[in-house]
Formats: sequence, C-alpha cells, structure tokens
Amino acid sequence: MAMTCDHPDLLPLDEALARLWTALPAPAFPEVRADRDDPATDLAAMDGVALRSGDGPAPRRLLGTLFAGDDPAAFTVTAGTAVRIMTGAALPAGADAILPVEQLREEAGLIHPLTDPEAGDHVRPRGGQARSGDLLLAADQPLNVARTALRAWVGQPLPAPTRIRVAVASTGDELVADPRPHQIRDSNGPMLAALAHALGAEVERRPALPDNPEALAAALRSPGGARILLTSGGVSMGEHDHLPAVLRDLGATILFHKIRLKPGKPMLAAQLGDLLVLGLPGNPVSAYLNALLFLPVALAKLEGRALPDPWRRGRLAGAVRHKGDRPLLHPCRLANGQLHPLPGKGSADLVTLAQADAFAWVEAPGEEAGTKVRYLTVV
Ligand code: AMP
Ligand code: MG
Repeated sequence: MAMTCDHPDLLPLDEALARLWTALPAPAFPEVRADRDDPATDLAAMDGVALRSGDGPAPRRLLGTLFAGDDPAAFTVTAGTAVRIMTGAALPAGADAILPVEQLREEAGLIHPLTDPEAGDHVRPRGGQARSGDLLLAADQPLNVARTALRAWVGQPLPAPTRIRVAVASTGDELVADPRPHQIRDSNGPMLAALAHALGAEVERRPALPDNPEALAAALRSPGGARILLTSGGVSMGEHDHLPAVLRDLGATILFHKIRLKPGKPMLAAQLGDLLVLGLPGNPVSAYLNALLFLPVALAKLEGRALPDPWRRGRLAGAVRHKGDRPLLHPCRLANGQLHPLPGKGSADLVTLAQADAFAWVEAPGEEAGTKVRYLTVV
C-alpha cells in the first residue's frame, strides 16, 4: 500500500544539515611538518638509570642524575658506570639503554641490575616518531585538541581560540515579562542563550523583537559583532510570520526553509552578508530541537572542527504513537540504557521537554517497543 505523504517536498533533516555545513566557510589551516627529528635526541622513556647494555647485569657506580630538560653533556657513561635518569631526559653519551627503577637494586652507591639490559630498552630513539620535514598533518584537516597540541609541538601554534559570537533574539508581540492570559513569557530567549553558552559560544542576548517587518529588518541590518543570529518565532505560515520575507527583501540567501521534521518543520537558515541567521520556530520544543541540531554544526564549521554527529543508538522501551509521515523526535526518559517514551503533548510542551533526557528519532508510523532507533540527548 502506498504511504500517504502530506509533505513530499520538505527537505530531509540530514540534507538541511549538510546544506548548512557546505554553505559556511571554515578557517584555513596550513599543513604540519616536523621542524626537527622527533624526538630530537634519544630520550629516557622511564625513570631509572642510563647505562651501557653491553656490560650486562654487572653493578654500576652512579655518576649523577639527569632530569628532563638537563643538558646530557655533563656525563659520559663508560664501563661500570651509570647515570640516574628521569622520564623525558636526554641520554648521556655512551648509554644505550634505560634500566627502570623497578628492575634494579641500589646498595652502597652501586646499582645492581635485576635483569640483563638490552640496547634500546626504554629509550625513545631520535627520529623514532618522525624525521625533520615529515608531513604530520595535511592542510585543512579539521581541528581537534590533539591537532592543536601537534601544531604547538612543531612550533606552529594556533592563535588562542576565540568564541564565536551568537546573538539571540526572540520574536513575538505576545512576549512580555508579566503576562496577562493572552500573553506569555519569553522562554526561548533564555533557553537558546543557555544552549549557545553550553556549546562554547559567546552569547549576546537581544531584546525580544515585535512582529513587525521594519523592526525585524532593522535588527537584521545591525548584527553588531554577531556571526550567528538565533531567532525564534515568525517563520511559520501565520500572518505575522515576517522573517522569511524580510530576509528575502534584504537580499539574504535562504539556505532552506521548512524541513521534514516533527516538531520543527518551519526551520529557516539564511545568510545575510557575513551573518548566519538560524530562524527557529517559536514553539519551545521545535526551537530547542532545531537549535540542538543546527547550532553545533554551524559552530563546528566556523571553528574548523569536524562535522559533529550528535546521534546515539538505543532501543525503545515502549511503543511511540506516530501517525504522520514526517520523522518524529519524541521525548524520552533514559533508564537502563533504554528509551522510555514520555506522553509528550507536542511542540508547545515545554513541561515534558524539561523532563526528557533524550529525543528518539521515530521514522516509521507506530514505531514499536524494542525497535532500535537513533536519539539525541538533551543539553
Ligand atoms: P510562531 O513560530 O511565532 O508562530 O510561534 C509559535 C508558538 O510559539 C506560539 O504559540 C508562540 O506564542 C510561541 N512562542 C513564540 N516565541 C516564543 C518564546 N520566545 N518563548 C516561548 N514561546 C514562544
Ligand atoms: Mg510569533
């Protein structure tokens, strides 16, 4: 039986994420080459004594101690002698092995090997890791903290990381601090600011914007120092949902508007000059989920990191009622490694959102208990 499809042309979520990723620029990173042999000289890999392995387990007289950073020229190891040495210290001339402290006995100023050392034991040899000039990392590999360390190691440190500035502005005439029954408080603004902060952005809270095209246009024309503007509301089909038209009038490039997702269909992404606008739907659960999906992708690309994959896999502990044809993100509790569906009341249900540990991706209508699904954990 053919499945009915009331949203055949909506953009699938993964395509929307890919479109955002592709549209944003990444910083350029030069290739990394070893500026010298690594290690640059033979180093001790353990705390112990440096000695000549050729003299076997005979006792040795200690000449002194070498710590990491000491110039080893102070000592030369000859037959019957050894130098106490710490991890990371350079081997003195003559020594070809380290005997770890655990493998020796010390008595009356002499050390007695408990094992027969072999050349190269516990030594990190010069060039063992890389030779000067070796390519260690190709250009434009995504940044991660290990690669940050590698760049510093070869003397090409990156500038200190800066946080991407994210402005947060809710929209809606109904948003007031002290609401009458027909009004509400702005919960999306604080939610999105907290999320952006948790994701490592520098957050700028803006006052809520009225449902007025001129006010929206004015806010978009003066992004301040923001690289990303997170808005909520005003992207659906209502008569006061002005954001898409205002962005078009300003000449913005609309990356997408409306995705195959429930909740969260009205999601919009646009570029206005250097400003990325993530136009989130107003309903709290929709705004939350779309921000959780799209903001990390934008931040990762702009910072030069790899595309994040927020999905985990788990089993549904109970059936999820799902009739529509859009994939559903359904709130769940996580217990005993399983996803326990909550009786969510839809995209406006902030109460259930606050109780959820995770959102299960329910692709097929009427997904059953026991089904393995992908899911997002809450922030
Ligand atoms: P909209 O997308 O503007 O049509 O809004 C959809 C629903 O979300 C409406 O019920 C709005 O009142 C509600 N909403 C919009 N903005 C916010 C906000 N900042 N905080 C909480 N609810 C909101
Ligand atoms: Mg609105």
